Amino acid sequence: MFNIVIFGAPGCGKGTQSEQLINQYGLYHISTGEILRNNIAQKTPLGKIADVYIKQGQLIPDQLVIRMLEEVLDTTPEAKDGVIFDGFPRTVHQAEILDKILQKRGGKVDAVVGLEVEEQELIERILKRGRETGREDDNLETVKKRLDVYHSTTSPVIGYYTEKGSYQPIDGSGSVDDVFSQIKRHIDSKKK
Ligand code: AMP
Repeated sequence: MFNIVIFGAPGCGKGTQSEQLINQYGLYHISTGEILRNNIAQKTPLGKIADVYIKQGQLIPDQLVIRMLEEVLDTTPEAKDGVIFDGFPRTVHQAEILDKILQKRGGKVDAVVGLEVEEQELIERILKRGRETGREDDNLETVKKRLDVYHSTTSPVIGYYTEKGSYQPIDGSGSVDDVFSQIKRHIDSKKK
């Protein structure tokens, strides 16, 4: 079992780099944002709640996201060999719970990759994605709130993993291949 957390501010390239990781290592990919968007599309009870938070650029309450994550892990046999966690954890509480959840299943967080990209570049990338995909929370007003939430609530997760010696910052400003080769080098050194 090998578990990777891919971490960073909105627009840093977590989704894009997750795709590269899936191809390279064949791990199961869990994007909490994607699962929430599917719930919204299917108008599930969770989706109806999540829609309000996502539109405002706020985080979904911890207990709802944690329950959702545990359900995926419980019902997905492919996740047993290891998971790429994309967009989770987003609070220190979520990081603590993730350790417990994995410990219960005989695993741990094996690598944390933090994609670092300058703020102006993040905003430009998100607005471009909004134009291309029509994703509802990819507009300037919501992006600014999401970045505020990232700085106040999510970035302390870096400290949590740094203390444990597992946080690896990666320069996320280059090309997809460039960034991925840095990630791969780090993961391969951890897998040895
Ligand atoms: P993402 O696709 O990762 O950018 O997530 C889109 C939105 O889903 C975020 O702005 C949050 O509102 C919500 N979300 C995704 N993951 C989490 C999480 N781990 N905790 C709380 N909210 C989340």
